Amino acid sequence: MREVVPVMARTHIAAGVALAAVAAVATHHALDPAWLVMGGLGGLAPDLDHPRALLTRAIPGASALAALATATGAVRHRGVLHSWLAMAVAVGLVEPLLGSILARFWWAMGVGIGHPAWILRLWRVWGPGGDWGWAAGYASHLVVDTLNTTGVQWFWPLPYRVHSPVPNIPVGTPPETWFRWSIYLGLLVWRPEIALATLLAAEVVYRAVSTA
Ligand SMILES: [Zn+2]
Repeated sequence: MREVVPVMARTHIAAGVALAAVAAVATHHALDPAWLVMGGLGGLAPDLDHPRALLTRAIPGASALAALATATGAVRHRGVLHSWLAMAVAVGLVEPLLGSILARFWWAMGVGIGHPAWILRLWRVWGPGGDWGWAAGYASHLVVDTLNTTGVQWFWPLPYRVHSPVPNIPVGTPPETWFRWSIYLGLLVWRPEIALATLLAAEVVYRAVSTA
């Protein structure tokens, strides 16, 4: 079977952060870092079904697990993790659970070093938008992959792959880069400060994940 190559991580991060930013502004929420960063991470998450995807390589053991899962046929790239069902589980269960574990960890660290107030201050800067940012990012990923010829198994376990006939963005080609920049350009025309925040946050997320 022909290998399905993931859409470039930069494109997914840009789309995830952008959709999260638009969602925050549209729902009159403060655009805190949590919206933007979690938008970028949510934009990468569905590609954990590919051993060589950016986020998979950043998480210890995830590449080996993804390679095993795809080799046994249990998971296919753009299969289950690219479905409505996985999005519901990722948004309703996985992210809140990991979030609360991380929050407890940081709080324990703060208490451990004798400065829990620092953690509270950081928490306030981070903001409350993480859950929604993650949801927007995950949804943006499925939409972006749907624009590619291979399409996405939105209704897994049903075998149908949904893909838009036009526009059709081949992975890793100039149209993919133009698509990414058109997201920024659209934001720039709409709200320059949102475009700048999106560009900066996307760069931070990309660098953080690629050096992890
Ligand atoms: Zn994907």
